Amino acid sequence: MNKSDVLIIGGGPAGITFARKLKKLKPETTITMLRPEAHSMVYCAIPYAIEGLFDPAKVFKKDELVTDIGVDLVRRTVVEADLKAKRAVDDQGETYEAETLFIATGASPIRPPIPGADAENVHTVKTQQDMETLIASAQGGAKRAVVVGAGAIGIEQAQAYRERGIETWLIDMAPRVLPAVLDEDMAEGVHQTLRGHGINLMLSAQVSSFEKEGNRVARVLFEGAEPIALDPARDFVCFSVGMKPDIKLFENQGLETNRDGIIVDSRMRTNLPGILAAGDCCSYTSLIDEKPIGGKLATNAVPMAKIAARVLAGKDDEYPGFVNGAATCAYDLRMGATGFTEELARQRGFDVVVGWGETTTLFPMMPGAGNLKVKIVADAKDLRIIGGQVVSTLSTTDKVDVLSLAIQHRTTLKGLSKLSYSSQPWQSFFPARSAIVEACENALDNFAKQQEAVDYPAMPQWV
Ligand SMILES: Cc1cc2nc3c(=O)[nH]c(=O)nc-3n(C[C@H](O)[C@H](O)[C@H](O)COP(=O)(O)OP(=O)(O)OC[C@H]3O[C@@H](n4cnc5c(N)ncnc54)[C@H](O)[C@@H]3O)c2cc1C
Repeated sequence: MNKSDVLIIGGGPAGITFARKLKKLKPETTITMLRPEAHSMVYCAIPYAIEGLFDPAKVFKKDELVTDIGVDLVRRTVVEADLKAKRAVDDQGETYEAETLFIATGASPIRPPIPGADAENVHTVKTQQDMETLIASAQGGAKRAVVVGAGAIGIEQAQAYRERGIETWLIDMAPRVLPAVLDEDMAEGVHQTLRGHGINLMLSAQVSSFEKEGNRVARVLFEGAEPIALDPARDFVCFSVGMKPDIKLFENQGLETNRDGIIVDSRMRTNLPGILAAGDCCSYTSLIDEKPIGGKLATNAVPMAKIAARVLAGKDDEYPGFVNGAATCAYDLRMGATGFTEELARQRGFDVVVGWGETTTLFPMMPGAGNLKVKIVADAKDLRIIGGQVVSTLSTTDKVDVLSLAIQHRTTLKGLSKLSYSSQPWQSFFPARSAIVEACENALDNFAKQQEAVDYPAMPQWV
């Protein structure tokens, strides 16, 4: 029997961050971490390893991240967990017991139950084996690749295959790419960029089945669209349609869960004593409307794990709720977003006001100046910012982070329109204009027009 103060199940960003933070705050804590993979991985970089931009081994993280600080790392899978006793059994029959259990088992790619989806040349992307299979397929003479799901991982993969000279289809049932991240009016430039680089973008298209020859797909069939013929010996399909939490191990033990994962409070405590959880295995609660929201992102897993470690070390801390700042890119176009899109906000019952700001990324006379477009979404009730989208030829993450902070601090359009921003010829538009400020001003103008149109009384004084 292996006994320790803390048993961590999972060695991804949540498990590693938790272990490192806890050891820093309470070095005397004994920690065992169970994780089956030979290497923990930088998943975000996998599409670029597939594209061939660097040696794929560079996505492997060093075990020393945890072993150097005294964590007992065991490369095995937990096959049984007794949450009441805080005990686990691994695939070699070894038993582990601890005062506290930290669940960080993450999530796995969804493989939709479409007829034929179990074929040998239909893949998903997450593990080392997935990465190696996809690289081998891309290098093994494939002439055609079909990516199903045009979210961030789907777009990044489609680019990877196209850049390797493979005829590539990117398919989504939504009418636009990044449907959870960008509204229609912000996605059009992304469509043009993808099509301009030769990717066959099929939107509002639903795969109905995969027709097989032997156990390999020979044709991808659609409702109401022409099939795509594949060479079953070489060509391949990859799903990137979302992730489902890996929590089967903990079923029927009184642990509160929902479809998105384990339910934790703002201190990462589950409903069971001595059991904390963080990362992709958890269900998230939106900071904006305090209702469940998706968001399987490393940028959520890491802060959650830090909070959990601080709480366990006796330093009270709370996570304010999730806003889901995220980014991706398609060739030289960068896309980022945070909070709710206009569409999602309306679906969740908000009456919204929106605005846009558009400038060049640099002073317009500077070499390489490109476009920058910002969309802002605010709650029409109090003009609090609830979402923002950025499409640019330069990095979007700095702007997305400003917008996330605005949401986190419940800033109004008027508040953010007073943003103190910086400007320099190589790094921004002229000092006269900031796309974020202009998006807020535009939204305020739009709001004023809406008010006049419905003949409301005097405009409120916003704070
Ligand atoms: C291709 C790709 C690109 C991505 N790009 C981005 C990006 O650009 N930005 C971003 O923020 N996020 C990105 N993500 C998402 C990000 O990788 C995840 O949100 C993050 O890895 C979640 O961390 P986690 O520790 O919760 O779970 P995981 O990283 O999934 O780790 C879970 C760990 O638990 C282990 N485990 C599971 N079951 C057991 C068991 N029974 N016994 C023992 N161990 C177990 C797993 O093997 C693994 O080690 C991407 C993901 C993928 C797949």
